[in-house]
Amino acid sequence: MKYHQVLVVGGGLAGMRAAVACNRRNIKVGLLSKIHPVRSHSTSAQGGINAAMNNHVRGKHDDVMRHAFDTIKGSDYLADQDAVVKFTADAPHRIIEMENWGVPFSRNEEGKIAQRPFGGAGFPRTCYAADRTGMYLIQTLWEQVCKYTEASMREEMVIYDEWVCLKIIVEKNKAVGVVAWNLAEGKLEIFKADAIIMGTGGIGRIYSNTSNALTNTGMGMALAYWAGVPLKDMEFVQFHPTTLKGNNCLMTEGCRGEGGYLLNDKGERFLANYPDSSVAMEIAPRDIVSRNITREVMAGRGINGQDYVYLDLRHLGAEKIMTRLPGIRDLAMNFVGVDPITQPVPIQPGHHYTMGGIDVNENAATPVEGLYAAGECACVSVHGANRLGGNSLLETIVFGAIAGESAVKYIEDGGKTGDVSKTLEKGKKEVEDKILSIFESKGDEDPSLIREELQKVMAEKVGVFRNEKDLKAAHTKVQELRDRYKKIKIMNTSGLKFNQDLMWNMELEGDLDIAETIVAGALNRKESRGSQSRTDFPVRDDKNWLHHSTFTYTPKGAKLGKKKVTLGYFKPKERTY
Ligand SMILES: Cc1cc2nc3c(=O)[nH]c(=O)nc-3n(C[C@H](O)[C@H](O)[C@H](O)COP(=O)(O)OP(=O)(O)OC[C@H]3O[C@@H](n4cnc5c(N)ncnc54)[C@H](O)[C@@H]3O)c2cc1C
Repeated sequence: MKYHQVLVVGGGLAGMRAAVACNRRNIKVGLLSKIHPVRSHSTSAQGGINAAMNNHVRGKHDDVMRHAFDTIKGSDYLADQDAVVKFTADAPHRIIEMENWGVPFSRNEEGKIAQRPFGGAGFPRTCYAADRTGMYLIQTLWEQVCKYTEASMREEMVIYDEWVCLKIIVEKNKAVGVVAWNLAEGKLEIFKADAIIMGTGGIGRIYSNTSNALTNTGMGMALAYWAGVPLKDMEFVQFHPTTLKGNNCLMTEGCRGEGGYLLNDKGERFLANYPDSSVAMEIAPRDIVSRNITREVMAGRGINGQDYVYLDLRHLGAEKIMTRLPGIRDLAMNFVGVDPITQPVPIQPGHHYTMGGIDVNENAATPVEGLYAAGECACVSVHGANRLGGNSLLETIVFGAIAGESAVKYIEDGGKTGDVSKTLEKGKKEVEDKILSIFESKGDEDPSLIREELQKVMAEKVGVFRNEKDLKAAHTKVQELRDRYKKIKIMNTSGLKFNQDLMWNMELEGDLDIAETIVAGALNRKESRGSQSRTDFPVRDDKNWLHHSTFTYTPKGAKLGKKKVTLGYFKPKERTY
């Protein structure tokens, strides 16, 4: 059995930032990640990270309350306003901290950190390092992590990479440890901890048309859900307007921030024809732009009548494209054979982000004692029903640090896991039994088909526009797939050493349970708000639905509940841009 004061599950930006916060206060940390930390999905973030850095446009200064207002309006008033104010107020300081640690942010003529316009923001507020912001952030945080590891002759932090967490163990509503699988050695191991921080990221691979990495499965969120922590606001799923046609690789919002146009088959900048985007045009928020692209396609004005439109960057010129958007150019050339300097890029909305997640408060604490969560797997909520571009990277470093500090405070105040060896051993036995039952299964269900059918039904029926008929059909399908999962037969039953077959199929169980919460939530919420657009309930209904949804695990499916939204700074208004 291994022991750390704090165990962080997830080596992305949120997990690493939380771990560093603990180490800086002399708390010993284990950092567990199923892939090497620098390979986490955070590394593929392109466009940038928001903060009100006192930027000024036409004599007006940006400030943290403007950032808070834009975030709350962007959320369609479902974000908790006190948490948003805390979030935006902390932002400039966190950017400077990352800059001091070494992130090479792009600069303006004055030599200050440059900021580009992003969707739904009243100011150019998105700091960036060309179009590889996530990669620079993650490499920089990794250097900070290395300062505390054995490699630097210190032993405050131990990294367990290529270890998969399979279970969180809770005793009397207190998180006491996890069971994790060492892929290289093919062994299961118990980790005891005084506090646990989850930073397992998004769950995009539930959809076939996602911009997310292969590693972004439902299991991370499901671990907390299965351990009795409610999930929150799962129906709110973000579709990014500009992903490459066919494979859904992301074309950052920075393309539009730098001045890119969206064109239909007639060559029109069609966003002008819709009242909710006619002023902001290409830099209206993602939910609105995704819907208006989909409307163009449904009206037959996609390119050649097909399911995509053009992102046109040609007028920006070669120099701007090469300096500000070099990665985008590479992606477009490599994946669809189009050079944005000379040709328009075919794009379509694709699944991108989950606003919902593990229910935490503004201190990153879940309702289970000693258990914290931060980053995309958590729902504070600062994004409400629709996240603004650039606010997610910010969430990882702001709430990652807060999660770490909360865990430190919990331990300093006496939070400690006592002798729980029986509970820990029992947890491990349950995981062993589950694996054995998969190995010895007499079933005949092919799990890869279950995954494919799940991804397809989510993309087709739980997408940009939703309605009761499709959602009911999707719910029935997901429940059918959950039943079929009980009879899966995997191919590799040779043991645990790098058994990827077993790993993907254990993750699939998480995908199915998380998908069920998304569909159940979408079906339950009879209104349109932010990313949830119900064609049968097209209007936002503050009287009945201005509250968070909660989801508690039961073997039959999620038990739904609700939770108050904290208002107090800005009154809900109609949202136009
Ligand atoms: C293509 C793309 C571009 C983006 N661009 C931007 C942008 O420009 N600006 C912005 O604000 N946001 C952007 N986002 C969103 C943002 O990047 C993510 O929301 C954020 O980086 C998530 O960070 P994270 O630390 O929460 O998770 P991740 O970086 O996804 O890390 C998750 C970690 O958890 C580990 N893990 C998961 N499950 C387990 C398990 N069971 N056991 C052990 N380890 C586990 C993984 O190994 C990984 O280390 C983008 C997202 C994508 C997909």
